Amino acid sequence: MPGLPTVDEALAAVLARVERCSATCVATFHEAVGSVLAEEIRADHDHPPFRRSKVDGYAVRSADVSTGSTTLRIACRIAAGTPPGDCIRPGEAARIFTGAAVPDGADAVAMQERCAAAAADDDDGSSVRVEAGAASADNLVPQGAECHRGAVVASPGDVVTPGLVGALNSAGAWRGLVLAPPRVSIVATGSELVPATDVPGPGQIRNSNAPSIFAAVRACGGAVIREATVGDDAEAMREALRNGLDGDLLVVTGGVSVGDFDLVPQLLEELGVTKVLHGVKLQPGKPLWFGVKGGTLVFGLPGNPVSALVNMALFVRPAMAKRMGRAAPRNFRGTLGAPVGKGTWRRKYVPASARDLSGGLDAAPVVTPVAFQGSGDLFGFSRANCLVVVPEDSAPRMAGDPVECVPLFEVMR
Ligand code: AMP
Ligand code: MG
Repeated sequence: MPGLPTVDEALAAVLARVERCSATCVATFHEAVGSVLAEEIRADHDHPPFRRSKVDGYAVRSADVSTGSTTLRIACRIAAGTPPGDCIRPGEAARIFTGAAVPDGADAVAMQERCAAAAADDDDGSSVRVEAGAASADNLVPQGAECHRGAVVASPGDVVTPGLVGALNSAGAWRGLVLAPPRVSIVATGSELVPATDVPGPGQIRNSNAPSIFAAVRACGGAVIREATVGDDAEAMREALRNGLDGDLLVVTGGVSVGDFDLVPQLLEELGVTKVLHGVKLQPGKPLWFGVKGGTLVFGLPGNPVSALVNMALFVRPAMAKRMGRAAPRNFRGTLGAPVGKGTWRRKYVPASARDLSGGLDAAPVVTPVAFQGSGDLFGFSRANCLVVVPEDSAPRMAGDPVECVPLFEVMR
């Protein structure tokens, strides 16, 4: 079908209409993992805040033990969490434990394992024999070595990862401004739909798109603010679509093709949504409709459940990522585990299962198409974790050939 955009052209047209979200919200960082920071965070104190012992042992003056095996008087005992002990004087050591503050006067910590065994066990005793000596700065982390007070810990645009959550909390920042997650409305259309809780009557099917699209939105970091299911009735649809236009995204499923009951494109345009594209050289998912109204991105996805999810992965996910200030998941290279047929006039995406059977770090995972009956077959699709890209007009490919793959929605919780 000449005239339709390719997948790349359609994605470029979508992304050209997506602005990075400017709305922010205050979030507790550990609850907001995966979101993007919207403010600069500086450390409120040095880290470590004191000279920290890296080991269990004895804080010493290196000058006292520079000549090798030396016996020192134990002046005090300092556990992690207690204030530093008194300053030690020449000829003295402090019994110290990992994470404790090294006392003034000491400039090194001798590891317990390098001190005379009898003396090392003798916590309450009065002396320790430091067998191997210690050089200045041995086994201690200077105050502020990891981060100075006032230093930038994180900047706007940084993704909140578990490591950053730890660093922010160490810097005294347990909550702050992050970009707000995209607010998404979902409208499923179709007079044949009944909820999963019902047993379908003659001609009816269960509504799988509303929950699967909800799940995909969640997996992409969005917040579903409204969900509606309506029959192929212009009045009911208009009402649901109008209500759905107040968020950042409206995702509609069904009714976007060319049948008598495919009313969605016309209704959206009547509601003031400007059409950007309708139809893509893509299989499955050709009927995709996309438009904008103000700051709201509107996606009309085909009702076929697999087509809808493929469109979510190819278009809605990158759009949401750009809005969130994040990179979209990258395609990866796989090695075909079974042949795939030749390409046609539209780019094809074949549901497949990628498994790292090679065991090698550098080897591409083996990617095997799953048994799949077409764009209505959620049961086959549900066994896939990626899509193999079959380029337009490409030759058939054999097992062992390299292929480009699109990861499906990865959710780890
Ligand atoms: P449509 O795009 O409305 O022509 O629908 C295409 C196919 O997808 C039809 O077989 C519909 O019954 C099916 N379909 C549409 N919406 C849903 C839905 N929410 N859940 C499951 N199947 C659907
Ligand atoms: Mg329909």
